[in-house]
Amino acid sequence: MILTSLSSSSQGNIHILENEDTVLLLDCGIKFNRVGSILNSKYINGVLITHEHGDHVGGCESLSLNKNTYFYGTKETLDRVNVPDFMKKAVEPFKTFRIGTFKIVPFEVKHDAVRPVNYLIKDDISGAQLLYITDTGYIDNLIFKDIDYFLIECNFDEEWYQKEELTRTEEIKSKRLLSMNGHLSIQKTIRVLTNSVNHNTKKIILCHISSGFEDYLEFQNRIQELFPKQEVIALQQGIFLDRTIKLFKKKDVMEFE
Ligand SMILES: [Zn+2]
Ligand SMILES: [Zn+2]
Repeated sequence: MILTSLSSSSQGNIHILENEDTVLLLDCGIKFNRVGSILNSKYINGVLITHEHGDHVGGCESLSLNKNTYFYGTKETLDRVNVPDFMKKAVEPFKTFRIGTFKIVPFEVKHDAVRPVNYLIKDDISGAQLLYITDTGYIDNLIFKDIDYFLIECNFDEEWYQKEELTRTEEIKSKRLLSMNGHLSIQKTIRVLTNSVNHNTKKIILCHISSGFEDYLEFQNRIQELFPKQEVIALQQGIFLDRTIKLFKKKDVMEFE
């Protein structure tokens, strides 16, 4: 299984998850002309959409004009995505579905979107499970077992917004970020990971880091310190087409990047 992250953060989120047989996109927040050099050569079996915000769906329309594929999301999300109806496949939380050799379980999250979901994805070929968590402010219900790979939001640091002098704009932003319908702060990300990381977990990939936190490696180091047995990788904000992360089921397999 290979994860290629094309873009991360509120500038646009789009990741390719593929095995030998099936290619999925996780969200599609960048227009096709900016990621076409990578996507052109691929048959895309399906696009998993979490919610209707532009940084997650902004590339769907242009993708639908260039590729024959299907867009998966809740009905409420798909109603807000501008792609032809025959390309839409509505999903329901906790109703498992398949795309090729991937088995997928959508689950509800809390965010200021209409009916967002995140996804647990199992690769039939390797047996590995990847959990994609992003754009959620409430995580106390999120406990997972046997996750090999986390692709998890680590948006901001709560402590930064607790300083005394916030501008009016920062104050408004902090209210949204910290709410139940906001985003995962590093503190919340750590809580999810503490509940769910176990000896099977190999990699923790931090995504959707806010552009305000330019030192994304600081987030990586803080989480790496807490989870020394896992490899922690923070995705830099913005479009980087060449970020390929190989995911193997067995820890003792050599990796070649
Ligand atoms: Zn987002
Ligand atoms: Zn969002």
